[in-house]
Parts: sequence; C-alpha cells; structure tokens
Amino acid sequence: MEKEKEKIVTRFPPSPTGPLHIGNVRTALYNYIFAKKNGGDFIVRIEDTDKARSKKEYEDSILESLEWLGLKRDGELLHQSERTEIYKKYLQKLIDENKAYISTETEGENREVVRFRNPNKFVQFDDLIRGTVEFDTTELKDFVIAKSVDEPLYHLAVVIDDFESGITHVIRGEDHISNTPRQILIQEAIGAPRPLYAHLPLILARDRSKLSKRKHGESVSLGYYRDKGYSPEAIINYLALLGWNPGTEQEIFTLPELINVFDLKRVHKGGAIFDEKKLAWVNRKHFNLGKIRNK
Ligand code: GLU
Repeated sequence: MEKEKEKIVTRFPPSPTGPLHIGNVRTALYNYIFAKKNGGDFIVRIEDTDKARSKKEYEDSILESLEWLGLKRDGELLHQSERTEIYKKYLQKLIDENKAYISTETEGENREVVRFRNPNKFVQFDDLIRGTVEFDTTELKDFVIAKSVDEPLYHLAVVIDDFESGITHVIRGEDHISNTPRQILIQEAIGAPRPLYAHLPLILARDRSKLSKRKHGESVSLGYYRDKGYSPEAIINYLALLGWNPGTEQEIFTLPELINVFDLKRVHKGGAIFDEKKLAWVNRKHFNLGKIRNK
C-alpha cells in the first residue's frame, strides 16, 4: 500500500508585544504560501507567555492585519497563555524522567527555576535555505526552560505547541537560528519528531543594518505602509520578492500566482534590503491592473 503523504502544516506565532513588523509579515506570507502550495494548513498561534509585555490590543491589530492581507489561518487560534496545564504536564514528565530539574538560584533573592539537563552534544540540522547547520550545545549549559512548573519559557512552549499542532515546517527569521539547537534538544527529550527548518534572511535597511524599531522607528511596521496607502496586494507582492526570486523576469504577482510559483529553494541566504521605492512601483503596477480589471 502506498504510504499516505504527510500533511504539511506551517505556523505563524507572533508575540503580541508591539505592532506587526514588516519582517514578520513576510514570515507569515512565506508560511502561508508554502502551506497553500502543498495543500497544507497555516496555523496562527499567539505567543503571549510574557505577561508583562503582551497586550490584547496588539493581538487584535495583528489578527486584523492578517485578515487585511488575506492570509487566512486554518483551524482555531491558539494562545500560549491558555495552555499552562499542557506545558505543566510535559514539564513534570521531564522532571520525573530526570531530563529537567528544579534548581535554586541564589542571584539576588533565592528563587526556583526549572533547568533542562543538557546532554551536551553536537546538534546538526539541514536548513532548507542555509544547508547543514551544526552546533555544539555544550556552551548552552543546563538552560532554564521554565520560571516554575506553571510558567514555561519560550523554548519549551514553542516545542510543545509545534509538536501538538503537527507542525512539519518551521519557517522563520534567521534571528531564530540560534534558538533551534535548544529547541531540538527539548524535542528529543519529549520524543517529538523534528520539523524541517527554513531560516529566512533578515530584512535590512538601506545602510545594511537590521531593520529594527529602535533604529528605524515606525517605518518597520506594516501599519506605517498601510497608512501611506499601499494596497495589501502590493505589500504581499513586494515582500514575496524580498529574499526570494521566481527565476524569471516576472515581478508582478497576485497571491494565487505566488502560491503557484513559490519555491523555498529559491529563497536567498543573504539579507534583503527593504526599498520603499520598489514597493511604490509595485503598488502602482497593482493599481493599474486593478483599473484594467474594473473596466
Ligand atoms: N514568537 C516568536 C516571534 O515573534 C516566533 C517564534 C518562532 O517562530 O519560533 O519572534
């Protein structure tokens, strides 16, 4: 009997700690396109374990932005803040199996945290964009995975959620590449299969520095371009080209066309420079197309 093909599931897990960054829009877009191209699901999960920095208004605006862009999620919306009991179950199991332990930290006042018992080994993974990546995890020591059994930290929550949602492909910014070895160690400890990884090149400003809110202000957020009147079609088209090329001369694409031609293999390794002039050009092209269609 032929083996049933595994369903592709990607995810977009924003932290609702600020307005949607243009780089995260591109991450969401690539995840969406890749899932749809393969008849798979695109899952959205709100990573709100950081109670102090997460805000409902940011979550609402992120979800509204995805809708405006036409990136429709599959399945229910997950919130990490509602999944404490689930994480606790895994944490307890790790502790019971001696793969994690409660440690009393004496920096400042005494407090207890949960540390992962690092097996100290080389972790190797085949990144779909960057090729083979190898890390010596010894330098990570016994890293902290939870502030307490009720308060898991990012790495643990991500691994459990990706596992429980059946995520097959983790497509995210290159700034997360150093998180991957920790997450692989946790996967192995809980017995989760390893998803395939694709780390996207960073989006850079014209001076080739990383596009960051601290340095570049509001111009890093989707809302900035939306307020300036750029259409969702143009933003999607432009962001798709930022770090990927179709291998042909074509530059103007609708979302269904992108789904048709997109290929992770054609995503570049090097950083991509954000150029508003090019976005404006793409915007005009879409505007003219719209006029022709409406005639
Ligand atoms: N919540 C993380 C972020 O917004 C994403 C984590 C991930 O993609 O694994 O940067």
